[in-house]
Amino acid sequence: MASWDHSVDFLVVGSGAAGMTAALRAHDLGGDTLVVEKSSLYGGSTALSGGVVWVPNNPLMARAGISDSAEEGLRYLEAVTAGSSSTEKLRAYVETAPRMMTNLAECSHVRFECVEDYPDYYPGEPGGKPGGRSCEPAVFDGLRLGDELVRMGVPDSSHFVLGGRLTVRASEGKMLMAGGSRLIGFMLRELFSYYTNFRARRKRLGNTDFSLGRALIGRLRLSLMDRRVPLWLETPLEGLIDEEGRVVGALVRRDGRPLRIRARKGVLLAAGGFERNLEMRQRYQPAPTSDRWTAGCETNTGDTVAPAVARGASLDLMDEAWWCPSMLVPLEDSCRIMIYEKSLAGGIIVDRSGRRFMNEAGPYNDIGKSMYRANTSEGQAIPAFFIFDRGFRKKYSCGPMMPSKAKPDWALPRVWEGNFFEKSQTLDGLARKIGVDADGLIETVRRFNEFARTGKDLDFSRGDNVQDLYYTVKAGGPNPSLGALEEPPFYAVKVYPGDLGTKGGFRTDARARVLTDCDEIIQGLYAAGNCSAAAMGRTYPGAGGTIGPAMTFGYIAAEDALG
Ligand SMILES: Cc1cc2nc3c(=O)[nH]c(=O)nc-3n(C[C@H](O)[C@H](O)[C@H](O)COP(=O)(O)OP(=O)(O)OC[C@H]3O[C@@H](n4cnc5c(N)ncnc54)[C@H](O)[C@@H]3O)c2cc1C
Repeated sequence: MASWDHSVDFLVVGSGAAGMTAALRAHDLGGDTLVVEKSSLYGGSTALSGGVVWVPNNPLMARAGISDSAEEGLRYLEAVTAGSSSTEKLRAYVETAPRMMTNLAECSHVRFECVEDYPDYYPGEPGGKPGGRSCEPAVFDGLRLGDELVRMGVPDSSHFVLGGRLTVRASEGKMLMAGGSRLIGFMLRELFSYYTNFRARRKRLGNTDFSLGRALIGRLRLSLMDRRVPLWLETPLEGLIDEEGRVVGALVRRDGRPLRIRARKGVLLAAGGFERNLEMRQRYQPAPTSDRWTAGCETNTGDTVAPAVARGASLDLMDEAWWCPSMLVPLEDSCRIMIYEKSLAGGIIVDRSGRRFMNEAGPYNDIGKSMYRANTSEGQAIPAFFIFDRGFRKKYSCGPMMPSKAKPDWALPRVWEGNFFEKSQTLDGLARKIGVDADGLIETVRRFNEFARTGKDLDFSRGDNVQDLYYTVKAGGPNPSLGALEEPPFYAVKVYPGDLGTKGGFRTDARARVLTDCDEIIQGLYAAGNCSAAAMGRTYPGAGGTIGPAMTFGYIAAEDALG
């Protein structure tokens, strides 16, 4: 008989969206629950994220007068996953996710708001919607977390405009792009609110009005604190313990000491992806790859893969990620993801031959895939180059580079030119600086400028649907995503096939139970979030398409275990 150091009903490994949601549900179903987290901070990639969840037929849509149904959601998911997921899992998702949202709103601090005009990423597919399925966490007063506030894995505030003093919500992204008096009013309001938050200023805390991922994690953490569900930081899972084929506990390390934890009803692996493990990336992901191109959290190194595989778990989608183009900025530890820049007028992305190779305004997941596809001997697309002109530079930001109206070139950090961006008075000169075929680039820009005048991208149909146009600003031309590149100087920034995290991992059934190669269930072992093979298969259905399933399958795992 094994001896145990600690005993619970449900053991959750990882404190991101999947783990915390599962812990909450398990507790509410009467389970004695423990969350173990490897990092000294909680929240994982979820804390760094936009916190948006994508939930078809969610309760907020009805309130906003947007019609949807589980059937439409399923039809859409079947169309966009195109056989890369199972109907049972997709059905479980569309049926459980709205129920979970309602339950969290009734029983916890977790609250979402509908982003009514945030379109599905493929709005033209059967069952696709022009808005309403993406919801963001309501702004949260971080001070409610007390001492736990400083233990949240929050991003370096220097990455954010004005040192993170502005509380920006996902639904405000478009307004930020448009600029003008609304933006100025917003900034003044936010700065006022920051400087008059005397409780936070007295404690020398940063901006404690949390939005996005921080709001979601703050809300989940507070809900767990209310319930006194323990969260052990700096406690990595190191092994799984089974008896007669059933997982009955786990081996963790705490204060440098190995501990055997018994989990009477089950163990949930919610330990994120392996985006920060270079060796695993090189083994499983398409080449070339780098652990510097990911925006996922540093502790997501795929630690649970080996112990679970040793217990018979099978893997799927290990070559996949939630792709998102990224940029590397000197002196910054983490890459910058490129979400909105690529669809704005006055910019294009080209390969080394100077040619465009995709619809830049398409979903970011597709951009990553296109870069790998285009990275052939004829057209090297890794890195690719984001090219824009002075007109773009004046109005829009590119990563940390604020619009030149606010921060002209002379005010930018000196180390950026030549390392983050290149600049030239001519396209020919720019092409030479970045090692791109000059004739190719000049011809591409000539052709693209023609598309800008007619409003029709004859090569890649950029700007032809609401998704492409989401972040764009109307400026008089026939297509707001197509703007000519004609005002020197011209700029170039390298773009890599980055990601928001990997999405390959343990194969699970519709109840989040881990399966063997022969489709047998490993009793007592569950997986959710980025350490499981994504229920969304090889696609990204809409903004929130990773956190929505992470939370939902965590929730499902808890219900199955505590049944
Ligand atoms: C900048 C950015 C923006 C994003 N925006 C969105 C968005 O708006 N909507 C969306 O749907 N997705 C978004 N994503 C993706 C999303 O954040 C992730 O896919 C999601 O948060 C993954 O949740 P998770 O619970 O699986 O993992 P995580 O939140 O990463 O949590 C995993 C946790 O497990 C811990 N862990 C790892 N190994 C061990 C171990 N051995 N023992 C114990 N604990 C361990 C990690 O330290 C981590 O805390 C974004 C990602 C980034 C980086």
